[in-house]
Amino acid sequence: MAAQKVDVVVVGTGPGGYVAAIRCAQLGLSVVAVEDDRAGGVCLNWGCIPTKALLRNAEVVHLFHRADEFGIKLSGFEADYAEAIRRSRRVADRMAKGVEFLFRKNKIALVPGRGVLRSATTVEVTGTGGITTLEGRAVILATGSEPRSLPGIEIDEKKVISSNGAVRNEGKPASLVIIGAGAVGVEFADVYNAYGTAVTLLEALPRIVPVEDEEVSAQLARVFARRKIEMKTGAKVQSVTSTPSGVRVTTDAGTIDAEQVLMAVGRAARVKNVGLEALGVKMERNFVKASPTMETSVKGVYAIGDMAGAPLLAHKAMAEGVVAAEAIAGKNPRPVDYANVPSCTYCRPQVASIGLSEAKAKENGRAVTVGKFPFTASGKAVALGETDGFVKVVADKATGEILGVHILGPEATEIIHEFAVGRTLEATLEEIIHTIHAHPTLSEAALEATLAALGQAIHI
Ligand code: NAD
Repeated sequence: MAAQKVDVVVVGTGPGGYVAAIRCAQLGLSVVAVEDDRAGGVCLNWGCIPTKALLRNAEVVHLFHRADEFGIKLSGFEADYAEAIRRSRRVADRMAKGVEFLFRKNKIALVPGRGVLRSATTVEVTGTGGITTLEGRAVILATGSEPRSLPGIEIDEKKVISSNGAVRNEGKPASLVIIGAGAVGVEFADVYNAYGTAVTLLEALPRIVPVEDEEVSAQLARVFARRKIEMKTGAKVQSVTSTPSGVRVTTDAGTIDAEQVLMAVGRAARVKNVGLEALGVKMERNFVKASPTMETSVKGVYAIGDMAGAPLLAHKAMAEGVVAAEAIAGKNPRPVDYANVPSCTYCRPQVASIGLSEAKAKENGRAVTVGKFPFTASGKAVALGETDGFVKVVADKATGEILGVHILGPEATEIIHEFAVGRTLEATLEEIIHTIHAHPTLSEAALEATLAALGQAIHI
């Protein structure tokens, strides 16, 4: 069959791919998108969105446990985990349908199947209906990533599960060892703990959420400990073996038995069987190397999202998708500012950060001023009954340049954006303190932490 000709072929419809496809269509380019799962990719179907639904369930369960505090008498309640999973599937389904709608609205054809690059302009798609050949003036690869494991440990999605299994399993184990205390690890620790699973969180590095500011790790660990989440840090996993009742996890600091293991040690780019080797697309540490306009070493072939390297975050993929689309349309897009990508983790309390940690700023030779404001001093947080955490602002001592912001607490993942905007506008502490923040809001903690960095905090 003759090749179907379009301006742009997009391979993969996760947040990188679908945003790129829509932006291409907005710019008047004809687009066809290829997907071997459901539109929306891992984020919408198996990652960000279903986990946020589960975390919301965990929050509701937690509030029911606190009913007394709010003067609500309950004579027991039952939290149905299977229903939490089913609700999260419905949420994911609704969002995937949303992407399908956006494709129709933007006249983007969706070709189901697995796409392989056969030349710089040709993508061969193998689907249930046979093989389709697509030809584009440009190709955007957005194949994403998949959970990785540790050497010698197989993810069977029964005893050793990944986040893929965790969002599907309607059953929950009585006990669970989570290997890795990054974003996946702490989010699932929160969910399973709320539903009564005995959770042990193992982390090879000296602290949980090790990429975050040290004070964030320390206080999150205190909150988790209060909720009886076991944590073992500085513990490297050596093996996982099957036992009659589950698994035995051996670390350099002893063994732990549990019903299941959740592997949360990171994700690997999906770069195999995409046709990259044959075309000689240059790689860098198992990711595709891309230019500031997201073009690979092969002219006309672009790579965005997780397959194009860290940080492996949906919003970074979306931003790259826009850059690639605009570059293909002959615009002169502003490259992604990788130093200003917010990082958000949705355990309770939430974790959000942008820029440098205090330690990193100092390592970089900056003389810093630090302002901190605890949510215990925020009227809104006290009214909500959500006082764990703080906002911490790290700024250049001489100029007030905002170097980094670290938030642990209620709606941290929303509050962080005023600093993202501020940093884009090159705002200093002064601009933030002259911005009136509504009272009472959680965002006032951002204002107060900024005031604190200048020695002017009012409410502490
Ligand atoms: P991660 O890289 O964030 O964390 C993995 C953790 O596992 C690290 O802290 C690492 O030190 C630890 N680890 C590695 N080997 C170990 C061992 N042998 N024993 C014990 N611990 C070990 O990866 P993740 O949490 O699996 O998440 C995967 C990707 O998806 C990340 O890039 C993450 O940013 C992204 N993600 C983001 C969100 C979010 O933004 N809310 C949520 C989930 C995942």
